[in-house]
Amino acid sequence: MRGAAMAEVKTDQPLKEFNTFGLDSRAERFCRVFSEKDLAELLRLKQLYQHGLFVLGAGSNVLLSGDLPGLTLAVAIPGIEIVSETDTDCLVRAGAGVGWHELVAWSVEQGLSGLESLALIPGSAGAAPVQNVGAYGCEAADVLEAVEGLGVPAGNAIRLVRAECRLGYRDSIFKHELCNKIIICRVYLRLRKRGPVPVAHRALSDELAAAGVASPKVKDIFDAVIRVRRRRLPDPARIGNAGSFFRNPIVPPDAADRIARIHPDVPSFPEKDGRVKLSAGWLIERAGFLGARRGRCGVYEKNALVLVNLGGATGAELLSLSSEIEESVRSMFGVSLEREVVVLP
Ligand SMILES: Cc1cc2nc3c(=O)[nH]c(=O)nc-3n(C[C@H](O)[C@H](O)[C@H](O)COP(=O)(O)OP(=O)(O)OC[C@H]3O[C@@H](n4cnc5c(N)ncnc54)[C@H](O)[C@@H]3O)c2cc1C
Repeated sequence: MRGAAMAEVKTDQPLKEFNTFGLDSRAERFCRVFSEKDLAELLRLKQLYQHGLFVLGAGSNVLLSGDLPGLTLAVAIPGIEIVSETDTDCLVRAGAGVGWHELVAWSVEQGLSGLESLALIPGSAGAAPVQNVGAYGCEAADVLEAVEGLGVPAGNAIRLVRAECRLGYRDSIFKHELCNKIIICRVYLRLRKRGPVPVAHRALSDELAAAGVASPKVKDIFDAVIRVRRRRLPDPARIGNAGSFFRNPIVPPDAADRIARIHPDVPSFPEKDGRVKLSAGWLIERAGFLGARRGRCGVYEKNALVLVNLGGATGAELLSLSSEIEESVRSMFGVSLEREVVVLP
């Protein structure tokens, strides 16, 4: 269907290609949006989304529990450019539809630092602030300067600077007050032209040492991250998954002490506020789920934090497995796991 809007709105669209779990849900109406102008026109057609509006980037952090009513928008706004620079840094603007890894690879090619530890994270630039993507001791919050988008349903222009995005551990205002209230069109990132390139994680320093790299440059870190991630994580092109299914739980110190008395080898990481972050992967592995299979879905055999679609699984089957894991971890350790993956609808 082509309405008053430029963009083509399809009906009953299969979404298998639009989510990395490879779940076979359908969208009642579906449109890929390549410009802010098209997005603004679509938002004016309120009858298209009176039964729901869902936003997808690359679908690498969603679990489709069924068909999506109303309108699903896949944001595909392109473009990467340097908008200003000083002697020491560059302000980079990326369209929300730019692939995150493509953006990281581009920055490394330019010799800019700040994104290299976030290589190979699937997804789009526009979704990166939503859960403040992070890996190997770095996160989007380290470099994000601002976000621009359109308000839903009014279509008004919105600009939020970093502090207003309220970025936290796999968290932001876009998961709370602004959930479903803004469609991000562009992100602005402040990247460094020179200065030391920190290696913020043991796995990376070990990998660099094994490769004989003593003073790593941006490209060395980028390459090391890719090697480590390829060993640890399943490629969604081969095995459907959405990366870490759960967030690492952050618990009061007495809860961490109680677990450590029974399991002295529990990995724990002190937070600035006195609480303690535990490894969800370790808890799930200890609860016996590493490599577990339940029908057509399971837990990845090399990483207990990753739930996988072994072929033809439904969202409901994956949710049932995730509930079983949550229940086991709760009864074994007294810790509640929270999903990192967003369940739609
Ligand atoms: C193999 C694998 C490894 C991963 N590793 C990591 C990792 O190391 N660190 C990490 O943080 N994450 C990781 N992830 C999760 C995922 O890649 C990130 O969360 C990514 O940012 C999701 O981007 P996306 O475009 O696929 O978002 P989607 O899955 O399409 O959407 C995620 C959420 O963002 C919203 N959203 C998407 N685009 C927009 C927009 N333009 N405006 C407003 N809202 C929007 C959606 O509505 C949804 O709520 C991994 C996933 C996989 C499959």
